[in-house]
Amino acid sequence: RIVFLNGSFLPIEEAKVPFMDRGFLFGDGIYEGIAVLGGHLVDNEAHLERLERSLREVRIPNPYTREEWTQLEEELARRNGLTEGFIYFQVTRGVAERDFMFPENTTPTVAMFTQAKSIVNSPAAETGIAVITVPDLRWKRRDIKSINLLAQVLAKQAAKEAGAQEAWMVEDGFVTEGGSSSGFIVTKEGRIVARPLSNAILPGITRQSLLALSKEAGIELEERPFTVEEACDAAEAFLTSASNFVLPIVSIDGRPIGNGKPGPVTKKLRAIYIRMATAQRMA
Ligand code: PLP
Repeated sequence: RIVFLNGSFLPIEEAKVPFMDRGFLFGDGIYEGIAVLGGHLVDNEAHLERLERSLREVRIPNPYTREEWTQLEEELARRNGLTEGFIYFQVTRGVAERDFMFPENTTPTVAMFTQAKSIVNSPAAETGIAVITVPDLRWKRRDIKSINLLAQVLAKQAAKEAGAQEAWMVEDGFVTEGGSSSGFIVTKEGRIVARPLSNAILPGITRQSLLALSKEAGIELEERPFTVEEACDAAEAFLTSASNFVLPIVSIDGRPIGNGKPGPVTKKLRAIYIRMATAQRMA
């Protein structure tokens, strides 16, 4: 397995990050995750735009141009023979003696790896998944894709221990988003309900693409927060993420959604999204 670290492609066993890296000590870094389908990057421009924004917001200099990032992603996928799966990349503020303030003259640490995964042929897409709800314990800048993921680690572990596959985080009675996904419901009238973008959630790239595609398909959207109660009474629920595209949710806290099976709107949206992602591959 080949990874990328600070300018070099090398076997993962040889990829070492110094002890004093601020990513390790402070969680002082940001990351991105992007799907690969048919050997091609899905929505790469939008992911790189979000990466640029995250870096700007935490004032870490961007080490590469968009073209350079793209070349690195493609080269890493090629070297790993990755046709379908996920590319992870993170940038930390770099290595320095431990002190909270930004160090001077430090170079950011850049690390990338790939994970092979069947995204299109997914058993979870056929059966749907269970989610539980947990309090949203995160900080107030969730729009930044920070590597500080302790709240999500705890939320998703709680989901696993409850026999569920994702946790929906809840604040003031309203669902913010999933531990590593954007959350949606479908009303009995067939309209999608999605929480509007703000500092309370990560601007999901799959969310953005899917909402554009659903508009083209004539499916109406209500962009507003929704409660757990409303979600449990909804016709359908689903999540989106780069690593899963669109997945049906068939229960929340053990309560079945609709008839407890993946719903027609969710199935249609998944199909539309896969068609778009596949078309990018052909382009
Ligand atoms: N929300 C959170 C908290 C996430 O961690 C992720 C992905 O990791 C998402 C939403 C989905 O974003 P995207 O569609 O860009 O993968």
